[in-house]
Amino acid sequence: MSVLVWIEQSNNQAVPSSWETLGKARELADALGTELAAVVMGAETAATAAAAGQYGADVVYAIASPLLAEYRLSAYVAGLEKAVQGAGATVLLASATTRGRELSAAVACRLDAGIAPDATDLRIEGGKLAAVRPVYSNNLLVDITFDGDLQVASVRPRSFPMPVAGDAKAAVKELDLGLGEDDIAEKILDVQPSDGAGVDLADARIVVAAGRGVVEDPEKGFALVSDLAAAMGAAVGASRAAVDAGFVPYRYQVGQTGKTVRPDVYFAVGISGAIQHMAGMSGSKVIVAINRDADAPIFERAAYGVVGDLYEILPALTAELKKRLG
Ligand SMILES: Cc1cc2nc3c(=O)[nH]c(=O)nc-3n(C[C@H](O)[C@H](O)[C@H](O)COP(=O)(O)OP(=O)(O)OC[C@H]3O[C@@H](n4cnc5c(N)ncnc54)[C@H](O)[C@@H]3O)c2cc1C
Repeated sequence: MSVLVWIEQSNNQAVPSSWETLGKARELADALGTELAAVVMGAETAATAAAAGQYGADVVYAIASPLLAEYRLSAYVAGLEKAVQGAGATVLLASATTRGRELSAAVACRLDAGIAPDATDLRIEGGKLAAVRPVYSNNLLVDITFDGDLQVASVRPRSFPMPVAGDAKAAVKELDLGLGEDDIAEKILDVQPSDGAGVDLADARIVVAAGRGVVEDPEKGFALVSDLAAAMGAAVGASRAAVDAGFVPYRYQVGQTGKTVRPDVYFAVGISGAIQHMAGMSGSKVIVAINRDADAPIFERAAYGVVGDLYEILPALTAELKKRLG
């Protein structure tokens, strides 16, 4: 019996939200009086496996193979299944990144286990996992409990604090993937890096999101939004209206059919606050709205609101922030 956490890697580096999940898993394993295991897969695993020990894992299952250099669902499912068996896991957690949501669901399906997707809180109740998950655009919270022995959950990034790394060492157990290239249906033909500019939306502590208001004068508007984001080390996001207008790619979209973010501060710039947009950002700790319509629904959810023209407010705000933050 153990709690097992998938530590996701990108370019052989751990994805930070995996450590948040591992930190919470430490509490769950302690509450169950069981071992905390981590699994790392990739072309290289040594550095991340060592870090998993520092972040609280008792044991790390490492599956290193060139076949795992790029994420491919069927290969990662096979690896994770081996780790579940090796660890005798009764609880399996993954950060609810795009890959984490997909992989945890596929493994749960394969092992006929129940899954709580996109959980924002976890606890142990009567010796079993209970997960909390927002539904109906974050207006209700539901508790999910499990019938079966294996309980799987994906955990929304930034639901739990980053644990502090100590100097503990985990026992590292190497597992063999047991697959050849011919066993893997998906073939990666080419990898195109994204423009890489700026901070990743899902992990960002501050997000500056552009709406249709910015599209009024797109060149100037997006430059102002990017300047404000750069001044704070923030990620840039967008409403669907801004994405549909063709000025930013879909990966920037926040909302029901885009990304879910949970930053400390979310700047909604020229965004009205439609329910489909709020579904992706209403978990933000502080919402700051900049909108020239004082009756825009976004102001009902914003902690701070500025009624005015974004083309005047953004340059002044950016200049002041640069002065104060150096
Ligand atoms: C099934 C479905 C899924 C959807 N999924 C998503 C989703 O994932 N994400 C999403 O965002 N939307 C989604 N939508 C669309 C959503 O309903 C809204 O249409 C969209 O969010 C509106 O974007 P917006 O707030 O930028 O634009 P608008 O609603 O047009 O608001 C623009 C705002 O900018 C303000 N403004 C204009 N000019 C200025 C200025 N110069 N200075 C200051 N303020 C200014 C206006 O006062 C207005 O409040 C979805 C819709 C459907 C039906």
